[in-house]
Amino acid sequence: MEPRTFVNSPLARVARLVLGRAPRVAMVLGRTVHLSGATRAEFLADPEWVAHEEVHLRQVRDLGLPRFLWQYLLESARVGYYQNRFEVEAREGARLFMESRARRAT
Ligand SMILES: [Zn+2]
Repeated sequence: MEPRTFVNSPLARVARLVLGRAPRVAMVLGRTVHLSGATRAEFLADPEWVAHEEVHLRQVRDLGLPRFLWQYLLESARVGYYQNRFEVEAREGARLFMESRARRAT
């Protein structure tokens, strides 16, 4: 099932500025993927990106949004964005998804 999206999200726009004017940003808030710098079609056309955000949607479901946001910010402050365990898990989940997708295609 395709995730719910909210395009031109002001909150995602703030994240985009914080991340050094990243060209496009997705941010999971509750059950919705907030986008800035990308349309819903552009987001959905990138299966690795969608798989990455699906992991964050699951993380939010598991922890609840307040705890997720708090732990995410703590992790980011402690180890930075890239080594943040939520990001590591999302990248790994997306990588595995793309691998299994490639296997199915052959
Ligand atoms: Zn992420």
